[in-house]
Amino acid sequence: MAETKCMNPGTLAHKILGFVFPDICLACGRRLVDGEKVICLHCQGSLPRINCIPHTDNAVHRHLASTIPIEKAAAMFVYRRGDIFTKPIHTAKYGGRPAVARELGRMFAARLDKQSFFNSIDAITPVPLHWWKHIKRGYNQSEHIARGIADITGIPVHTHLLRASGHGSQTQLSRTRRWENASATYLCKGKPQNGIEHILVVDDVITTGATILACCHALHQAHPQLRISVLSLAMTENT
Ligand SMILES: [Zn+2]
Repeated sequence: MAETKCMNPGTLAHKILGFVFPDICLACGRRLVDGEKVICLHCQGSLPRINCIPHTDNAVHRHLASTIPIEKAAAMFVYRRGDIFTKPIHTAKYGGRPAVARELGRMFAARLDKQSFFNSIDAITPVPLHWWKHIKRGYNQSEHIARGIADITGIPVHTHLLRASGHGSQTQLSRTRRWENASATYLCKGKPQNGIEHILVVDDVITTGATILACCHALHQAHPQLRISVLSLAMTENT
């Protein structure tokens, strides 16, 4: 970022800004130039993007197709383990840099906004973290992605969901068992404010889809009339 480059690299301000928005591309490690944030333009051009048009019938929507009515679905790119493009999400999640999550949210929202994805959406709600994980990490990366989307669209962020319990590691479980485990995990707290008819559920990465579907399920159970759409930064292959 421009301000960072103008400062003496040894100053405290430079170090703080460099931590919030590191001046290297988090994917390839190349030094960012003015105007670039988090991911350089070259890497943005090489992202394995997912075509999300039409918003109501695409690879993400089909992956989540279930008994819960989901209106629109979108994910920015394919998450391949070991790929350099997973690094920015990893940094946002585990690197103590929620500002990176927010910037990635802005980046994807700016693109989707041009496709009218957010038309008719009244509120954004992040997939919640278990409270203990939230305390340990210090933040919920999905909430910061949601705030980045709000920066672009002006749609308010409401935390409607609560993670009632941890469900341990899911990796050894079948897809059905993961879904059964996850669906008992999330609760809807309170009633959406008057005027909220369509809500967007936001997560960082969709793997099996069990987590985001469990959140949609909790919302749908509590408020069957609510229209629900989903957005994730990435989605794994072959899930
Ligand atoms: Zn790069």
